[in-house]
Amino acid sequence: MKYYILFGPPGAGKGTQATAMVEKYNLHHISTGALLRKEIAAGTELGLQAKALIEQGCLVPDEVVEGMIENEFKTVSGVEGFLLDGFPRTLPQAEALDQILAKTSEKVTATVSIMIPDEMIMERIKGRALKEGRADDASEDIINNRIATYHNQTEPLIEYYNNAGTYNEIDGVGTIEEVQERIFTVMDKF
Ligand code: ADP
Repeated sequence: MKYYILFGPPGAGKGTQATAMVEKYNLHHISTGALLRKEIAAGTELGLQAKALIEQGCLVPDEVVEGMIENEFKTVSGVEGFLLDGFPRTLPQAEALDQILAKTSEKVTATVSIMIPDEMIMERIKGRALKEGRADDASEDIINNRIATYHNQTEPLIEYYNNAGTYNEIDGVGTIEEVQERIFTVMDKF
């Protein structure tokens, strides 16, 4: 099995690019954000807890998303690999992922990181808010908090995966097709 991490700040275009990636490389897409939104829509206990955190631009507890990921690994088959979108987002999550994979003597294949400048994050999320109506896209304060959360908690993963030798950075500025081409060029190597 291949395990790709799709990395990048909020609004970098991970969800958009993931669709083309899973199709081309026969991967199962795991978006922790989408899984959490599903829990919220279903009104589960977990969803209720996650909702309050997500709507403040904070992260949900590591154990919650780690459990979701392990569950997907166990229940999905018939694919070449997995595309992790929005996970890991903290150092403990990255370490937990390594431990989960080590149980079956596997490891992260590659980290594909889509980078855009902070100014563009705000612009893109505001555009998406008009189309998708996500509660965490609704105000500049929440978006700013998500950008800060990214810099404080998620950005350290760049060094983690650089040290692991699996980090590949892609310029996320350009058309969807241009960015997709850059991603495919990297993915074709694995
Ligand atoms: P975006 O990529 O735009 O930040 P996501 O859909 O990936 O949006 O995530 C939405 C929200 O869900 C995050 O801001 C966070 O509150 C929560 N979330 C998603 N993935 C994780 C994770 N791995 N760890 C903790 N919280 C998460």
